[in-house]
Amino acid sequence: MLKKNQNITDTCSFFNCIEKNLDKAAQFISVDKKLLKQIKLCNSVYRINFPVEIYGKIQVIEAYRVQHSHHKLPCKGGIRYSLKVNQDEIMTLAALMTYKCAIMDIPFGGAKGGIKIDPQKIPVKYLEKITRRYTSELVKKNFIGPGIDVPAPDYGTGEKEMSWIFDTFSSLCPGNIDSMACVTGKPISQGGVRGRKEATGLGVFYGIRELCNLKEEMSFLGLDTGLMGKKIIIQGLGNVGYHAAKFLYKSGAIIVALAEREGAIYNKNGLNVSDVILHLKETGSILNFPGSKNIQKTEKALELECDILIPAALENVINKNNANSIKSKIIGEAANGPITPEAENILEKKGITIIPDIYLNAGGVTVSYFEWIKNLSHIRYGRIEKKFSENINAKFIKIIETICKRKILKKEKDIFLKGADEIDFIYSGLEDTMINGFHTIRDIKNSLNINIRTASYILAINKIIDSYKKLGIFP
Ligand code: NAD
Repeated sequence: MLKKNQNITDTCSFFNCIEKNLDKAAQFISVDKKLLKQIKLCNSVYRINFPVEIYGKIQVIEAYRVQHSHHKLPCKGGIRYSLKVNQDEIMTLAALMTYKCAIMDIPFGGAKGGIKIDPQKIPVKYLEKITRRYTSELVKKNFIGPGIDVPAPDYGTGEKEMSWIFDTFSSLCPGNIDSMACVTGKPISQGGVRGRKEATGLGVFYGIRELCNLKEEMSFLGLDTGLMGKKIIIQGLGNVGYHAAKFLYKSGAIIVALAEREGAIYNKNGLNVSDVILHLKETGSILNFPGSKNIQKTEKALELECDILIPAALENVINKNNANSIKSKIIGEAANGPITPEAENILEKKGITIIPDIYLNAGGVTVSYFEWIKNLSHIRYGRIEKKFSENINAKFIKIIETICKRKILKKEKDIFLKGADEIDFIYSGLEDTMINGFHTIRDIKNSLNINIRTASYILAINKIIDSYKKLGIFP
């Protein structure tokens, strides 16, 4: 039975969908039923109502912060601003964070926050007021802090909201030398890390590239190996969707359609993502982009012919009503929970490969983890070692030139002479994490002959069980 304040998918709440995924995975491993129950439950759910004066009138704002699991601390998870925010949604997204962190070996418990507002309809000065008030409510209840719970951006939020959160927290907790680590996804000047903005989309790119580079997986789907020439459709041109589109386009994939709230655009020969963004900035819409065809019903874009479909907007967009019409061979879940369980059954029968959210969009939390470490160590990545590496490499080149009795070309020298900057460390750390995660999951998938989602949940459950056991909480 669905209750009020639940996010309705085809037949169950969003949270129940995730529980079903865990139950499915648990069939393949030996796990105590009570422990599985503990792993599924949300440890703390904080529902807040607070008043804010907007345009001279009092508005009562509904908001949430959910800490799904305390098996590792701090808790970590984004904050979303949307009129669709409800308790069930935030609980589910917090649970997904726990599993994501476990899969990617990130030492956090899962959390999520949400404020039920439409940020596009609220002027910035009121958005700031709401964000600061929300932060002070979290401080009052000890629901935020570098070692307690660390928010980040999500749907409808970005750097500016994270900056306000940091400023509010540090004003309310003066003298806390680690206060910068109370939130991630901040602007660089406020302690952010280079590469965080594009991290989730870049992680989506690395994950899809890993699958496409496997000959065995591609020939099973009747596709060529590699990303070059793959036809891609992306829903949602926000932070995640835009950056995924940009990196896929750069690697030679063909973006045949892009879908936004107001409609979608299609061009079988491909859309230049940067030009679409310029057009969006100039006209306020992606529609009427030169050379492309408008699709008025935006959700119809999901049903077009393509090799890879990337939902990067919201949950439940592929459900029992449209799953049969999906023609893509691969679906990369950049958004959280875009496919309902009923839809997944239909898609599996059609032979579609799904790369699940708990792995594919974990790039954001991975780089948030790097930002948190940067904030706690109070130093930019590469600041100490960059020049040292450059000096050593210069000496090394001189030795090679002496031994080989020839001068190394300047363009060859430049490759070796450059020491790593912060962005180089972040990109390589993210790439490594996404590649390792992919192959660990794939090994489980192949050994049990199951799909990637179930394999990912098995990995997550095993890691959490191990953590509980080592803590001595369960035998
Ligand atoms: P965002 O607010 O930056 O972008 C979302 C985009 O989707 C917006 O451009 C919006 O106009 C568009 N959109 C909304 N409804 C739509 C519809 N019906 N059809 C097509 N487009 C629509 O949000 P984001 O941060 O990019 O998050 C997108 C998804 O990725 C969410 O599910 C979020 O939970 C997930 N995610 C985000 C991050 C992150 O680092 N931001 C990390 C992990 C997962």
